[in-house]
Amino acid sequence: MSNMFLFFASLLVLHMDMNSIRMRRDAIVDHLREASSMGYNAVLWEVEDKIKWETCPECVHPEAFSKREFREILAEAESLGLEPIPLMQTFAHAEYILSHEKYRPWREVDANPTCYCVSKLEVREFQKRFLFEYLDLFGPSVKNFHLGADEAHAFGTCPACVKRDKFELFMEHLDGLASVLRERGIRPGIWCDMMLTGKLSDAQIDAQVNKFPKYLTAWYWDYYYGSEEKNLSYWAGRIDHLTENGFSVIFAPATASWGDSPFLPMYGKHSDNVAAAAELTRRKNLHGLCVTSWSVHLSPKRLQYPLWELAAQRYLAPGDSVEKDFSAILVRRLGTDDIQMMKDITSWFPSLIPFDSRFGTCAAKWARPIAGTAKDGIERYRREEPDYVPPLPCEIEANFASVRKALSKMETKSSDLRMAPFISGARLAIRHAETIADELGGKVPVRFPEEESRRFFGIEQSASSAALSSSLVWMPLAGEGGKFAETASVNQKGR
Ligand SMILES: [Zn+2]
Repeated sequence: MSNMFLFFASLLVLHMDMNSIRMRRDAIVDHLREASSMGYNAVLWEVEDKIKWETCPECVHPEAFSKREFREILAEAESLGLEPIPLMQTFAHAEYILSHEKYRPWREVDANPTCYCVSKLEVREFQKRFLFEYLDLFGPSVKNFHLGADEAHAFGTCPACVKRDKFELFMEHLDGLASVLRERGIRPGIWCDMMLTGKLSDAQIDAQVNKFPKYLTAWYWDYYYGSEEKNLSYWAGRIDHLTENGFSVIFAPATASWGDSPFLPMYGKHSDNVAAAAELTRRKNLHGLCVTSWSVHLSPKRLQYPLWELAAQRYLAPGDSVEKDFSAILVRRLGTDDIQMMKDITSWFPSLIPFDSRFGTCAAKWARPIAGTAKDGIERYRREEPDYVPPLPCEIEANFASVRKALSKMETKSSDLRMAPFISGARLAIRHAETIADELGGKVPVRFPEEESRRFFGIEQSASSAALSSSLVWMPLAGEGGKFAETASVNQKGR
């Protein structure tokens, strides 16, 4: 497949997210080459603190790329036909800035290091300076720029902001930054949630959407669309309010999102999601398709290659059926065509989420490690979701015993090297589930496969990033909050 299949002027974007992990440079280049060969023509760069920024030297990660190194990566991407689309956070998800003591006064809510107070003039000045630095780094080929703005739950709640009309305040802040871009002929965009927020009638949504300027590209993210799971995005099904009101829309499904194991993505849910999103993007002739891949879910991105390729193929040159396309891709990439087995192995992961591992990784982003065990995780989750019925340890054991059996059949059937990362991930994922079951059943785990999981994360992460990822997964289950916190702080220096 090549870019010649892009018969309409549209974007096929791969999301390269450097939040929470430090990806190795060779891994990034591998991903770019794969994406280009699949037909992608743009990359959404979420670089966060992994660049040696001058605007905010306090926030720079100890293993951040120098600008020279990153420009070399960008040059490689450009030579592969991948347009750079930078993403800079302007409302929320700014924990890489606001976790630092110096910037604490800029938080909208003191206890929450993710959301800026945008009433503060110094915040706007800071973001403008930062924006100029982004533009300088990414260079003259930038045609689209993403200003974030998703999940800004705390937005507009401080004593100063609460006095303002929320949308007016939002637009005032956004417009100031967007004008810098528009003067240079660059098209600004934001995630769609703020535009489609609220329990509103169709007419009210239209009115709300029309408060936003038409120069914005709306990046419509929905990681459930097309899958069998209940859609938890409150804007589900509201895409027409954007297209019919004249917005340029990019549909964003996911291949790494909430629900994934730290060791494997959910092949069933994500394949349904990307295939349906690609189909809708074609049918509605949207501005583009962006496959998001959130690194906080930790597993090596090469395990998502079959999903990235499925998205590209269903968008650019779909075959007769999704199943056939996916099974051909799996054979080519992983040496197996057993879709059912791939789905079975990964379908149980969401039920394990409340047991802590992801709380651990999110805690690292927030620089606030949470001590505790699987049991603590469940109790915390129950307070937020009173109707939640957790699986019993025996149910977890029974499910993963059968998964282990399916996996060993796969292992004996093939000595295929293409399968190796999947098999390592599956082994660790099963071990993780069994440890959760043991811990819930009152058994004290004696040993964790830390070495093994460090090696696994090390396929794509730097050594210290892999060590941190590994400790985030296992330490909460060990109930060793203290040790966990120490590891996190050593690796994140000052975060
Ligand atoms: Zn405020």
